[in-house]
Amino acid sequence: MSVIPALEADVLRRQDPELADILLGELDRQSTTLQLIAAENFTSPAVLAALGSALANKYAEGYPGARHHGGCEMADVAEHLAVQRAKDLFGAEHANVQSHSGSSAVLAAYAALLRPGDTVLALGLPYGGHLTHGSPANFSGRWFDFVGYGVDAETGLIDHLQVRTLAHAHRPKAIVCGSIAYPRHLDYAFFRTVADEVGAYLIADAAHPIGLVAGGAAPSPVPYADIVCATTHKVLRGPRGGMILCGGELAGRVDRAVFPFTQGGAQMHTIAAKAVAFAEAAAPAFAAYAHQVVANARVLAARLAAEGLNVTTGGTDTHLITADPAPLGVDGRTARGRLAAAGIVLDCCALPHADARGLRLGTAAVTTQGMGQGEMEWIAVLFGKVLRGEIDGARAREEVREFTGGFPPYSRTPAETG
Ligand SMILES: *Cc1c(COP(=O)(O)O)cnc(C)c1O
Repeated sequence: MSVIPALEADVLRRQDPELADILLGELDRQSTTLQLIAAENFTSPAVLAALGSALANKYAEGYPGARHHGGCEMADVAEHLAVQRAKDLFGAEHANVQSHSGSSAVLAAYAALLRPGDTVLALGLPYGGHLTHGSPANFSGRWFDFVGYGVDAETGLIDHLQVRTLAHAHRPKAIVCGSIAYPRHLDYAFFRTVADEVGAYLIADAAHPIGLVAGGAAPSPVPYADIVCATTHKVLRGPRGGMILCGGELAGRVDRAVFPFTQGGAQMHTIAAKAVAFAEAAAPAFAAYAHQVVANARVLAARLAAEGLNVTTGGTDTHLITADPAPLGVDGRTARGRLAAAGIVLDCCALPHADARGLRLGTAAVTTQGMGQGEMEWIAVLFGKVLRGEIDGARAREEVREFTGGFPPYSRTPAETG
């Protein structure tokens, strides 16, 4: 195994066998269960190598050429490369690759454009808005006056009429589009038009679909939004982290909103790993991957519907599926528990216009493992059996272990992957 020799053979295992066992246990968990959490993926060995590199030791407050620390020659080159690759990949005039996470990127976007107390229009949390879109438990709900739009009760699609009506009634300083659970493409041109009608900034929180955008499998928000926030670890398959894209005129404000306003020293090992991931995402193989992710999600959604689950919006355009298992006689939490016992790992989520919790899942990780439509059908059939109680949990767990054994996430050597 290319990623693990340090664990198995030498340093960590000899010095700290207790922790080495924990890491190997996690690798075993990831390798023998099905990772259907919509926000997760398997980074390449090259990305992991950059994360474990000497840049992890480097302090680099500031930006290339303007650091508060000495010895940043290599850090500067690494960040330059990451920024250039991000700009090229997404056709953006400016990229900031320092955000520690998707939430930090959103915080910086608000800091760049808003003042405390400003009104912001975003998808309400019951309909798939993120915590940073106005949750009272989050800085966003505490410091800004959020108004929530929703989805149509029948179709599950974003209620464009309501977006426009609320925008004209509340005159927000910014409109946010983006979601943790919405399975369809967003109409960025529509949001741009409404933002222009009321003089609002448009912030696209593309944390989920940005990897599909990179692979040409989803529309890009870059031509429409004033600021695009994203993560690098979801479909994009890079290290855990955030990223901000914007036009040249907002570049200075965005950079100052990240550092020094909301963050300290950049995590240079993560930025190096982001550069590696951007290069991977620019390759033709990644476009094929992104399209396969969507093809797999479409098949999985259709097969889950055939098993009796109520799939929100009737399907998906992306990697993401939300579904209500109630027609099979189980609520979301019970379903998640049963599936977990079988080694099928996914999340619960809010269901629009319902008190019950639903299921949220995605195909980014299983597609990285090399699974295709046939495997999605296999997963959906087992899903149905587990939820209907037609198979014993322990037996299902064994079937999943055997099945995933054919798709090890980290089996190939770098020579073979290259
Ligand atoms: C995942 C996500 C985030 C937050 O990303 P973190 O890295 O977990 O902070 C923000 N917004 C949306 C829409 C997301 O899906």
